[in-house]
Amino acid sequence: MLDARILQQLTEIVGSENIAATPQDLICYGYDATQMEFLPDCVVHPDGSEEVSRILKLANQEGFPVFPRGAGSGFTGGALPKGGGVVLVTTRMNRILRIDTDNLVAEVEPGVVTETFQMAVEKLGLFYPPDPASLKFSTLGGNVAECAGGPRAVKYGVTKDFVMGLEVVLPTGEVIRTGGETVKGVVGYDLTKLICGSEGTLGVITKIIFKLLPYPDAKKTMLTVFDSIDGAARAVSTIIKNKIIPTTLEFMDHATLTCVERRFNLGLPDSGRAVLLIEVDGDRELIEKQAGQIHKLIEPLGLVQFRVAKDAAESEELWRVRRLVSPSLRDVNPDKFNEDIVVPRSKVPDVIRRIEVIQKRYDIPIVNFGHAGDGNIHVNIMIDKRVPGELEKAHEAIKEVFQAALDLGGTMSGEHGVGLAKQPYIPMELSADQVAAMKAIKAALDPKNILNPGKMLPV
Ligand SMILES: Cc1cc2nc3c(=O)[nH]c(=O)nc-3n(C[C@H](O)[C@H](O)[C@H](O)COP(=O)(O)OP(=O)(O)OC[C@H]3O[C@@H](n4cnc5c(N)ncnc54)[C@H](O)[C@@H]3O)c2cc1C
Repeated sequence: MLDARILQQLTEIVGSENIAATPQDLICYGYDATQMEFLPDCVVHPDGSEEVSRILKLANQEGFPVFPRGAGSGFTGGALPKGGGVVLVTTRMNRILRIDTDNLVAEVEPGVVTETFQMAVEKLGLFYPPDPASLKFSTLGGNVAECAGGPRAVKYGVTKDFVMGLEVVLPTGEVIRTGGETVKGVVGYDLTKLICGSEGTLGVITKIIFKLLPYPDAKKTMLTVFDSIDGAARAVSTIIKNKIIPTTLEFMDHATLTCVERRFNLGLPDSGRAVLLIEVDGDRELIEKQAGQIHKLIEPLGLVQFRVAKDAAESEELWRVRRLVSPSLRDVNPDKFNEDIVVPRSKVPDVIRRIEVIQKRYDIPIVNFGHAGDGNIHVNIMIDKRVPGELEKAHEAIKEVFQAALDLGGTMSGEHGVGLAKQPYIPMELSADQVAAMKAIKAALDPKNILNPGKMLPV
């Protein structure tokens, strides 16, 4: 519980209209996209690094925790104020500061919504590829803190591949710049990469410099349906082995298709057991050629349908199948654990087979879809928490799914991070020495453990 004196000091920093502590406000900032909930003591909306710095200095002096938060769309509880404290919301810092068309860079504040930024650069013929499905509401600061990915990662990479520099307020309140605007730069440790994916535990990001690309000439979308999961999974490695790197290679298994078809009746063939949504972009002639090559390459792999979008409207129609996945899943069961394991892409068929065995052993529905092109599969364990024993079964199944990914040379999380949700499983992936090195970095930057305490690393 924060005393009145501290609340008064916070009010002086951000202004009375930018601090809230009514029960309604606290409820609004106590949840994210997980089903966890923890109430903060108060919520502040600072504007700029100076205010953030003063808040963190006060927190160090008085010993209260601070939890950075963007849009609160995280899937792992990273922004949740477990144990109470101050939630520091970045959404007032929502300005696109400049888009430099000579050097193809942009500087933004952390509270800019991902899609707003994408649209602003596209108006200038430029391209910011990272495209988390949450782009209509997630913030760029949250994207950097989680190193968000998305369907286009297979060709273009993830958020950290586009971050050139940052302004960061360290947990002790000092404001630093990392990286810069040059393509090259090797002076000192790469603090930019350290902050990317640090889940708000090492500093509050207050400015971001992004690299941009020219907007691709054209794109071609293909919906391909296979008579087996194995066929679809083999198609992924076949396409890439033949030196075609599509922009996206999105995978949906039979359980996913059944959910979508039941609700939305899209006319997918009965014999379809898996779908790959493939998109290529770039030079108009090249993508025509690539679409033809892809068709030829995947035809012998049990292809039962191949639809190519003729224009943007048809492309949108094909993408509808993928976009309808999330709203359809709740028909299976009311509660979902959405994991996002990654394996080397050639191991996608193996991991899917391992998941099928786990599903049978625990007798709970598991629905798989995701970014097969980079081996990142969203494994959705669907349960009804009201049924006694289901929750325990789900936790055991999750552990086995993680083990399967690790056995195949993969990782527990490709883009959703650790937060609170995956923290108990960290020793399965990181050695004690790795954890100790990470804890040493945290302790050096945050000696009083005030910034997003209790997250990511085992406590
Ligand atoms: C429907 C849906 C679809 C999604 N699809 C994807 C997807 O395709 N790919 C993907 O990667 N993720 C996806 N996500 C997860 C989520 O949207 C991303 O992790 C996103 O990057 C979080 O952004 P946010 O602004 O909501 O951050 P929050 O949830 O508010 O915070 C996330 C983490 O970042 C920290 N943080 C936020 N802002 C800052 C800052 N300025 N400085 C320091 N730390 C900060 C927080 O402390 C927390 O640890 C999805 C979520 C939903 C609900």
